[in-house]
Amino acid sequence: MNAHDSEKVIGTLEQQGYARVEDEAEAGLILYNTCSIRDKAEQKVFHRLNEYKRLQGEGKKFAVLGCVAQQEGERIFEKAPYVSMVAGSASYRNLPEMLRRLEAGEQRITGLDDRQTDLTFETEFTARSNPHRGYITIIEGCDKFCAYCVVPYTRGKERSRTSASVLVEARKMVDVGFTEIQFLGQNVNSWRDPSGRMSFAELLVAVGELSGIRRVRFTTSHPRDFTRDIVEAIDATPTLCDHVHLPVQSGSSAVLKAMAREYTREWYLERMSWIKAATRDISITSDMIVGFPGETDADFEQTITLVGEVKYDAVFAFKFSPRPNTPAVTMADSIPDSVKSERLRILMDRQREIQREHYGRHLGQVQECMVESYNRSRGQVVGRSSQNKTVNFTTARIAQTPPPVGSYVPVRITQTLPNCLVGEAIADSAEGAAFVPVARVPQFVVLN
Ligand code: SAH
Ligand code: SF4
Repeated sequence: MNAHDSEKVIGTLEQQGYARVEDEAEAGLILYNTCSIRDKAEQKVFHRLNEYKRLQGEGKKFAVLGCVAQQEGERIFEKAPYVSMVAGSASYRNLPEMLRRLEAGEQRITGLDDRQTDLTFETEFTARSNPHRGYITIIEGCDKFCAYCVVPYTRGKERSRTSASVLVEARKMVDVGFTEIQFLGQNVNSWRDPSGRMSFAELLVAVGELSGIRRVRFTTSHPRDFTRDIVEAIDATPTLCDHVHLPVQSGSSAVLKAMAREYTREWYLERMSWIKAATRDISITSDMIVGFPGETDADFEQTITLVGEVKYDAVFAFKFSPRPNTPAVTMADSIPDSVKSERLRILMDRQREIQREHYGRHLGQVQECMVESYNRSRGQVVGRSSQNKTVNFTTARIAQTPPPVGSYVPVRITQTLPNCLVGEAIADSAEGAAFVPVARVPQFVVLN
């Protein structure tokens, strides 16, 4: 989501006549887009800002964007007086006006009061960095207020975009050559059509049925709002990718209660059983937090047994990190960092074992892969499966005419590793089946 926010900022700046450069040394304006979900994000931001300032010298202008900007607000001007602009993500639609004030030499420009606006979705200038896979934010903010999480404070209340506006944008993207669309939202499946026309599952199907679309993804889903019709939609619509990212956070109902997740282990496992009952092999991944205040050894053991029961294809696990303004900061029974680290290690070791075994189910399968890049030293093409797994594959053509980035190639899986699959392109067979070429988007650059 943070990367997609940057795409919106880049597009707006280009539209305003700015040229993007790769190296800070050449830039007159340095915009620093920040995330504050974990760790000591704010400290890191000031540390890096000071480094930029030291290395970049006088004459450059600095702006801080994103969640740290929203969280720290005008304090940023006090701590880093050379910063001229501080703006949260809901203010990016006001960037043209803010840039004009910056050019006029104004010093302390802020865009911090827009968190509640419904006008966040103006993305006509979005500079999508990948011409094949495009992101669409369909819902912004969050109203769930989990005890540990800063998002409701930095991104504001939940607001959804209408189905009509999402479908218009998706259609436009497909028309210029995008074949994969990924819906984004802090809780993407909490999306409610403000016009009341469609459910989330119906929106998925509607985009999946656009002619020219090949893959539809969505992230992140929240268990509370995960309904059975989402599974049915995936089962019935081949263009909907067979992958659901459904963060559980903990396997212990007591910890889930303390986290204010508003579901139990059993509730979550029921959703897992729906996914597993599907005809398609739907890959399941999750986020987990270890060392939440008060988490006992027995609670943690519940997380370990849950991982074994569900058999995730990937787990993103984090040590609990106290975040400003959240209820968890003041909770008793904080867990020492050494215990958090040990639990993280045990969890990741267990997950690695599971992945090693569970990925084995793909051996011998043919999977369609979207080409992402090449590993020329190993003579491999790097692709991504519908389940969002990395597939490194060989093709007889790699030396002469490798399949282009963004094309889709059927690959037979010949080896499975804990974190990726290895295979051979079957389009290299004697019949010489063609790679599926994908229209390229015209490239442009704006120069001043
Ligand atoms: N809305 C999604 C999660 C978005 S935040 C959901 O509710 O599932 C992405 C992930 O960051 C979370 O799933 C959680 O695992 C992690 N996270 C958020 N706040 C955290 C904190 N204070 N400490 C550690 N991990 C955190
Ligand atoms: Fe944060 Fe997700 Fe909870 Fe919202 S639902 S408060 S984004 S963890």
